[in-house]
Amino acid sequence: PTTPIWQTVLADAADRGDHPALIDGVSGQTITYAQLARMVERMAAGFAEIGVRPGDVVALHSPNTVLYPVVFYAASRAGATVTTLSALATAKDMANQLEDSNASMVITVGALLPVAVEAAGDRPVWTCDTVEGHRSVQELLASTGPVPEVAVDAAEDVAVLPYSSGTTSLPKGVMLTHASIGVNLAQIDAVHTMTSEDRIVAVLPFFHIYGMTVLMNVALRKGATVVVLPRFELDRFIDVLEQHRITRAYVAPPVVLAMAKHPAFEGRDFSALEFILSAAAPLDAELGALASRRMGAELGQAYGMTELSPGTHLVPDGTAHDAPPGTIGKLFPSTEARLVSVETGEDVGFGEEGEIWIRGPQRMKGHFGRQEETDTLIDADGWLHTGDIGTVDENGWWHVVDRVKELIKYKGYQVAPAELEAVLLASPDVADAAVIGVYDDRGDEVPKAFVVRAPGSSATEDDVLAFVAERSAPYKRVRQVEFIEAVPKSASGKILRRELRVKEKATAGN
Ligand code: ATP
Ligand code: MG
Repeated sequence: PTTPIWQTVLADAADRGDHPALIDGVSGQTITYAQLARMVERMAAGFAEIGVRPGDVVALHSPNTVLYPVVFYAASRAGATVTTLSALATAKDMANQLEDSNASMVITVGALLPVAVEAAGDRPVWTCDTVEGHRSVQELLASTGPVPEVAVDAAEDVAVLPYSSGTTSLPKGVMLTHASIGVNLAQIDAVHTMTSEDRIVAVLPFFHIYGMTVLMNVALRKGATVVVLPRFELDRFIDVLEQHRITRAYVAPPVVLAMAKHPAFEGRDFSALEFILSAAAPLDAELGALASRRMGAELGQAYGMTELSPGTHLVPDGTAHDAPPGTIGKLFPSTEARLVSVETGEDVGFGEEGEIWIRGPQRMKGHFGRQEETDTLIDADGWLHTGDIGTVDENGWWHVVDRVKELIKYKGYQVAPAELEAVLLASPDVADAAVIGVYDDRGDEVPKAFVVRAPGSSATEDDVLAFVAERSAPYKRVRQVEFIEAVPKSASGKILRRELRVKEKATAGN
C-alpha cells in the first residue's frame, strides 16, 4: 500500500452519506459518514492553521467518544504522527510517554484535564469537549482554510505511535507506518468480512492497537456503524448489545468471562449477534465455548501484538464452528511463521510447542528511540520473536499457550499460568483467577493462585487446591491460594501479573 491511513480508511466515507458511522452509546449523539468525512477534512485544515506540521507528534488522551476517530484521522491527515494514551494513565506515566514520543501537543477531554495538564509540561493542551478557559479542537471544525496537501511516504512515515501494553516491561513506542497498517488491513480483509450492515460496539479502548484496528480502521473503512462506549460497564454494555442489535462484538477475555458466567446476560435478546472476537490475551477453549452458547453467536480468536500492526492470526469468518477448540485461527496471507524450540533453537513439528516467530510486511519499523530493543526482538533475517509459546496442527490451526516469560519452571517442568487459570475458572466457586510463580520454603518455583470468589461462595483455600488437584497433572498443581477482590487487568484485558508479584513481595517481606 502507498496510501496514507486516513485515505485507506475514509476513501468511501463521503459516498456513504447519511449512514451512521458513530453513535454515542450513552447520549445517542450520531455522526454520519458524510459528517465524518467533512469533519476530518475541516479539522485537518484547522490543525494546519494552528501550526501542526508533517512529522509532528500529536498525543491523543481520551476515553472512547464519537469524536475520537475524527481527531485521530484529522491529525493524521494534517501529516501528524498520532500517539495514543490510555484514559487511565497516571500523570507520571503520561509524562513519560509524552517525553518518550516527542509529542508537541496534547489533546484530552475535560474530565482528564488535571492529569493531562500535570503531565504536559510546556506542551499546549487542547480538549475534545468544550471546557472554559481551554481551547477545544471543536473550534477547528469551523476552519475555512485549505486542506493540507501532505506528501506521504507510506513505507517510511510513521502514521501511529501506539505504546505496547507494558505487560512484560515498560511500554514501548511502536513505529507503525502507513504501509504496515495498510497492509495489515488488507490481510484482515482477506479473512474477515465486516460490512456496512454490521453494527459493532466499541467498548475496547481506541487507544490500544486492538481497538484502534478493528473498531476504527476496519469498521470505518467497511462502513459499519460503531456504537461507542467510554468504558466497560456491564449493564450498559448489555443494553447496547440488545438495543442497538449489535451484530459483532470485539472484546478481550475478561468480557468473554462475563459472557460465560455472569447472570446479567440471562434472558436478554442477542438475536442480532453473529460473531464474538476475542484477542489480546489467552482465552480458555471451554470458557469461549460457554460464552458462545450463552450468547448464541460464533466465537473466534485473533492473535497479534502492537509490533505487528497488529494482526497475524484470526479464525476466518464462518469457520469458528469447525475450528479446533481454543485456536487463535490461521496465519494471515503474505505472512510467514515459525515455531522454534526455546531449548534447542530448532524448529518444532506439528503439535509441539515452540516460540512463535513472524516475518511479514505488517511488521513495525522499530521501537521508537530503542534500536537495541528492536534488534533483540527482530533478528538479522527479519524474524520477529514474539515471546509467545504456541503450536500448529497439520491443518494450519494455531494455538497460543502463554508467554515464554510467564512460564513457571517447577522442577524442570514448565507450567503455563494461563492453563491453570482456565482450570480455576471452571470452578463454580471462582469468579476470576490469576496465577504467578512464587518460591516455596525449599526454593522451588511453584504456582500460586489469586482467586476472586464467586458471589455467595465460601470456598476455602483447601477447596480450591483440591479442585485444581483433581484436574491437573501433579507437577502442575497450584500450591498456594490467596483470595482477592479483583484481578488486576490492563485496559486491553491483560492480567497484570507484575502487580501481583509486587503484592506478593510486599506480603513475603512482612
Ligand atoms: P509489552 O510488550 O509492553 O510487555 P504486551 O506484549 O502485552 O506488552 P501488546 O502488544 O498489547 O503488549 O500485546 C501483545 C501480546 O498479547 C502478545 O505478545 C500475546 O502475549 C498477547 N496476545 C494477543 N492475542 C492473544 C491471544 N489471542 N491469545 C493469547 N495471547 C494473546
Ligand atoms: Mg509485547
